[in-house]
Amino acid sequence: MQLRLPRLAVALSLSFACVAQAAPADDRPLLGFDRAGATEERALEARFDAALNRDDMRAWMKRLTARPHHIGSPYDKENAEFLVGLYRSWGFDAQIEEFSVLFPTPKTRVLELVAPEKYTARLSEPAIPEDATSNQAAEQLPIYNAYSIDGDVTAPLVYVNYGVPRDYDELAQRGIDVKGKIVIARYGGSWRGIKPKVAAEHGAVGCIIYSDPRNDGYYQGDVYPKGAFRPEWGAQRGSVADMPLYPGDPLTPGVGATPDAKRLDIKSAPTLTKIPVLPISYGDALPLLRALGGPVAPEAWRGALPTTYHLGPGPATVHLKLEFNWQQVPARDVVARLRGSERPDEWIIRGNHYDAWVNGADDPISGQVALLAEARSLGELVKTGWRPKRTIIYCAWDGEEPGLLGSTEWVETHAAELSRNAVLYINSDTNERGFLDVGGSHTLEKFINEVARDVVDPEKKISVQERARARQILNGSADERREARERTDIRIAPLGSGSDYTPFLQHIGVAALNLGYGGEGDTGGVYHSIYDSFDHYTRFGDPNFDYENALAQTAGHAILRFADADVLPYAFANLADNIGRYVREVVKLADDMREESKEKNQRIADKTYTAVFDPTETYVVPSPDAPVPNLNFAPLQNALTHLQESAKKYDAAMRELSTQGRKLSPQAQAALDEALKQTERAMMRENGLPRRPWFRHQIYAPGYYTGYGVKTLPAVREAIEQRNWPEAEQQIGPVAQTLNTMAAAIDRATALVQ
Ligand SMILES: [Zn+2]
Repeated sequence: MQLRLPRLAVALSLSFACVAQAAPADDRPLLGFDRAGATEERALEARFDAALNRDDMRAWMKRLTARPHHIGSPYDKENAEFLVGLYRSWGFDAQIEEFSVLFPTPKTRVLELVAPEKYTARLSEPAIPEDATSNQAAEQLPIYNAYSIDGDVTAPLVYVNYGVPRDYDELAQRGIDVKGKIVIARYGGSWRGIKPKVAAEHGAVGCIIYSDPRNDGYYQGDVYPKGAFRPEWGAQRGSVADMPLYPGDPLTPGVGATPDAKRLDIKSAPTLTKIPVLPISYGDALPLLRALGGPVAPEAWRGALPTTYHLGPGPATVHLKLEFNWQQVPARDVVARLRGSERPDEWIIRGNHYDAWVNGADDPISGQVALLAEARSLGELVKTGWRPKRTIIYCAWDGEEPGLLGSTEWVETHAAELSRNAVLYINSDTNERGFLDVGGSHTLEKFINEVARDVVDPEKKISVQERARARQILNGSADERREARERTDIRIAPLGSGSDYTPFLQHIGVAALNLGYGGEGDTGGVYHSIYDSFDHYTRFGDPNFDYENALAQTAGHAILRFADADVLPYAFANLADNIGRYVREVVKLADDMREESKEKNQRIADKTYTAVFDPTETYVVPSPDAPVPNLNFAPLQNALTHLQESAKKYDAAMRELSTQGRKLSPQAQAALDEALKQTERAMMRENGLPRRPWFRHQIYAPGYYTGYGVKTLPAVREAIEQRNWPEAEQQIGPVAQTLNTMAAAIDRATALVQ
């Protein structure tokens, strides 16, 4: 699913390519290899690159997107069989692994304005002659949000901006309550599933989500087919399951959705929405918004529709009726293995989903065809006698769109083996022209920087690492600019959720990366619509498949290096550095909140409190905040120091090993791998996060109120954000303990090097 930020306003000029030029690329050492090994590895990568083929990727994309292929559809099944056939032809041991998952599709969808005038929403996207696959109405899923509950409600309408918690604070300040109302929110500002969740928490009885042209329509550029952006009747499908609670099949949390698995009753499944929710186009939203009265919306809330944005409630009154077929469908994962020759029990896993909402050229086939190109190229290397030392597993996931179904059920089914064997998971999803974008585990930050340093940008002819660095220098804050110039490695983003890395990283603690190029393709305006097609992608995504090739190189080199390194190429100084930032952030967060509350309470006491966005309007004075206590962060800070020391020692020991030209025996290497494998696992806590035990990672989690957006040190950070002071106090100890456990795991690895 994964939605990237819109295209950058600033074009990149080559003059920024002068940063940090060092020795020629092929002379530099590689993590996990000695000198000779690094030279051999680079030669292997050159052969891998030579076997990648843009025409293959174009042909596969055309084939895989020829018809709609959502989970459970006939063409999704044909695609799975096509993929298995490809893997077998390349020498992989490939099969389809099948699960049975809940996947509702719409039976009834009615949205009408019943007062002050009548309007019945179209709720459909018209075919256009310039887009060859847009006319396949019989196989297209209608516009809807998966895992909305059934409902039939009529109520006055309220406009809630993005529908995130602070938007409701603003409404409350103006005395507007959504209890018993239907809310209309625009897409953006959070993951979509947060909107009905927060609306229901505030007592709304229905939720409509629309695509405002300001965010991805005519305000951004010409609309499709003239330009790339969202046309009047285009809408964004998507899941609204409460995935921050747990992803995967809503009926089988924590266990694989095999045919005989014990299932929850649909009525008690906690990840279904509490109120009915429907996405609509801006063509359908305009008559509803135009009929709203009440105060004019604050400036930041206004979109680009030709009307004055009002908040309501009413007089616009809306009837929303939704009914779904609550059926079980097969989720078919394609799993293809190349067995390792020396350490077959260390698994390197590479995945991308293949199901789409409709034809899905960008999401997900752009990532899928890069993955296929890698696998074919690996197959070519095998034909010349090469075998990976460690086992490589290529996976094409089904049912990612409704809720990471295929990947989550596979991980839950194989949790014990994966926990024992997996050393890396690399994900991709959408991919377009532009800049390398990396999210992932910070144990891999140094490693992926080395990979990115050795891949050449197809248009700018500089390394993709330098291009990403130049982007930070252009677009970053003052601190980010300075850091981008001075820090050897580019910081990679911590992962929240939004694609199939989540079960690997956050449920069982496998070090993970999410890779993709983007920022210069224009695909956001057709996201999750019938217009995300081969025709659109080859005009606006990556017309020459150059960045498809770059993704295949980037992910492919990462897989090859992990497969053949003498020891697993994790490094820890970058990890400790990033965790240090997160610790400082949570301390500052509490300090800032203390100051803000003091100031707010003072203004309330002095009767000088005014509405935030428009002091001339009527407003409701809030009740004073409870004072923010002084939390004791010392255990966390001490544990951080411990982690920093351990990280430094390991990285120094590895450097020394390489300067001495000393090589560990194969047995010592295997033992070291075993110890290293435990370092990411050490970041997990058996009981998981408060109120969401499925999420066990203590450093990264999707935010309970952001959905895709990450929360680092989530147990502590979210308790503070939610002003739950006893819980914040109580979580500091266990999180500190996790850092100490990590430090101990790193120390065990260091002892094996020495
Ligand atoms: Zn996707």
